[in-house]
Order: sequence, then structure tokens, then C-alpha cells
Amino acid sequence: MTFLEIKNISMSFEENAVLHSINMSIQEGEFVSILGPSGSGKSTLFHLIGGIMTPDSGEIQLKTENITGKKGYISYMPQSASLFPWRTVLENVILAQELKGKKDIQKAKNMLRKAGLGAFEKAYPNVLSGGMKQRVSFIRALLSAENLLCLDEPFGALDEFTRLEMQKWLLSIWEEHKRTVLFITHNIDEALFLSDRIFILSNRPAHILTEITVPFNRPREENLWLEPSFLEWKKKIYFLLQNQEGTMK
Ligand code: ADP
Ligand code: MG
Repeated sequence: MTFLEIKNISMSFEENAVLHSINMSIQEGEFVSILGPSGSGKSTLFHLIGGIMTPDSGEIQLKTENITGKKGYISYMPQSASLFPWRTVLENVILAQELKGKKDIQKAKNMLRKAGLGAFEKAYPNVLSGGMKQRVSFIRALLSAENLLCLDEPFGALDEFTRLEMQKWLLSIWEEHKRTVLFITHNIDEALFLSDRIFILSNRPAHILTEITVPFNRPREENLWLEPSFLEWKKKIYFLLQNQEGTMK
């Protein structure tokens, strides 16, 4: 059964058309990336899936339920970690559970420990590095009860080395929990390294240029990004994105 169905979604802000007739089917347990240029409408798509905006046309279904314009069905990790500075790390990660009235502090502590943050439970966000903040934010999303995790360029602000470490960490967590993940990125390597499938968006107004089933085995090799087959795929996607901008090579 399809887990998430995005049907013919179009959206504009006044006369500025942002999304044009987007269709996607996501299966339960899949890791799917949405790859597109900056400003193409990726975050807007997440705002629509999260129900904080309503599309001009189209429908969003979660397990056949129509959730268009409805909040509270997905777990969302925004582009910046957005931790509450007055709450400790532990208090930040149990926030989503607190809001639902179901706290599992032991589980939260275990996950923090596994993420190498055990010593920081009682620390406040201001002492954490960028990568640590993103891990806290991700654990908070993972601890919420909703099955669909929407991650909006979670590693965009990190340096290259930390980003690689975080990608590996995310994959190890995902292999363990097998949640359905929708992952936004404008980084081709990141999309190829992490995903089962990639939807490639055009420039604004974004439509789907193509959909790729990523052929690499799991668990992914740590140095996959150095393999010739990886570089081949990277090239294909790169030229696809470049040519649609009219800069022919
Ligand atoms: P991306 O996440 O792909 O970088 P966004 O979805 O954030 O792109 O934005 C796509 C376009 O929509 C941009 O031109 C942006 O300025 C515009 N936009 C996004 N949100 C709003 C809003 N609430 N009101 C008006 N314009 C918006
Ligand atoms: Mg964005």
C-alpha cells in the first residue's frame, strides 16, 4: 500500500507559481530524497505535506486518508535545528512527546547516548556544535510518534566533513528504525548516498524532471561516493539539472 500519495499538487504565492502539478508515491519504510535547486519550492512542498499551508489544487494522502491542509500527521525537522535555548538537550528531545502527553524519558536518554550525546543531556543548546544540534533536532523528530519523517536540508549548514559524518550517522539510525523518510536537499552526492529513490525538481515553478531509483546496495559503503558508478550517476543528474537551466554544454 502506498504510504504517502502526493496528487497533482500546484501552489503559487500571488502571481508567483512555485509548484506545478507534483505527483509522488512513497512506500512505507522508503528513504526518498527531493533534489532541486534553491528556491525551486522544496520547503513549500514540505509546508504543504505538514498541513501548515493548503495547496491551490491537488491532494495529499497518508495511508489513503486525505490530510491536505491538516496538521499533526508528520514529524518535521526544519532547515535550522531550532532548539529551545532555555531547555536542556533532554528537555528539547522529549518536547514532541510532551505535547502529546506521552513521555518516554528512558528511550530519549538511550537515543542520546547512542548519538554520542549522553554527556550532554543536561547541557543547554548554546554549548553544542552545529553537528550536535542537528543530531538533537533529529532525535526529537525521531521520538515523535508520527511515522513520516520530513527532513528539510538538515545538513545544509554543516562543513563537508561533519556533513559526511552526519550522513553516515543518519543511515545507521535509519537502518535500525526503518521509518519512512522524505529528505530535501540541493546536494547531489547527499541524495545519491542516502536514498532509495530521488525525485528531481526543476527550477521554479517546480515540476518533477525525473525520478531515479538509486541502484546502490545497502548498507551503503562508506566510500561509495568515490566509486566510478557513483560519479556516473552524479554526472547524469548534474547535467540534467544544468541543461534545464538552459546552460548547454
Ligand atoms: P526551496 O526550499 O526550494 O529553496 P522555497 O519553497 O523556500 O524554496 O521557496 C520557493 C519560492 O516560494 C521562493 O521564491 C520563495 O520566495 C517563495 N515563497 C516561499 N514561501 C513563501 C511565502 N510564505 N510567501 C510568499 N512567497 C513564498
Ligand atoms: Mg528550503
